[in-house]
Amino acid sequence: MNNIIVISGPSGSGKSTLIRRLLHKHPEIVFSVSHTTRPRREREVEGRDYYFIGVEQFKQMIANDEFVEWAEVYGNYYGTGAREIETRRKQEQNKFLALDIDVQGARNIKTKYPDALFIFVVPPSLEELQNRLLKREKKEDESTRTRLEIARQELKEYGTYDYIVVNKDLDEAFYILNAIYTAYRNTTARREYFIKRLAMGGKE
Ligand code: 5GP
Repeated sequence: MNNIIVISGPSGSGKSTLIRRLLHKHPEIVFSVSHTTRPRREREVEGRDYYFIGVEQFKQMIANDEFVEWAEVYGNYYGTGAREIETRRKQEQNKFLALDIDVQGARNIKTKYPDALFIFVVPPSLEELQNRLLKREKKEDESTRTRLEIARQELKEYGTYDYIVVNKDLDEAFYILNAIYTAYRNTTARREYFIKRLAMGGKE
């Protein structure tokens, strides 16, 4: 049984905020910390947000087959460590692992873990996405244009996902995300262990 939740979404979709809220509400969900070659941002913490490593080390890890998936996103490398996913996944029956990865990563995870939950967070419109990106970056620069173009490409990959969360209003989007997770957590396959015990007089 794989308790894996994959959440993707274009830059500016509000995906990171939604994931933070989900983790805050559900302590049984563990965040999968990826490796990346991009520089650490001011508020990021090594080992909490990412493992920040150099390109050479990243390539060595690829060669050693240490990633369950990896991809190049916005000119940097990102990868999910195989060890991360395997050890955390097996820890406990009731733990869930959340992966914040791009569309390429989601596709690769789907091949390896088809029973994972795949959620795509999208903006209500490209105009709104542009506004959010501009607000974040203060001025229209190459990066905003690049991210918009990449978003347009990413949206075409919707077929990989089980659910689409349109983030127009953050509270509403979170309500939907939470409902999706709650349903996944209570599928018969994930409740089998409990229901067998229940029949013998056990408790949750
Ligand atoms: P950021 O640099 O803004 O933190 O992330 C950029 C993009 O890389 C986001 O879409 C994020 O989901 C994706 N990403 C982060 N970690 C991984 C990973 O391990 N694998 C893949 N494929 N994408 C990742």
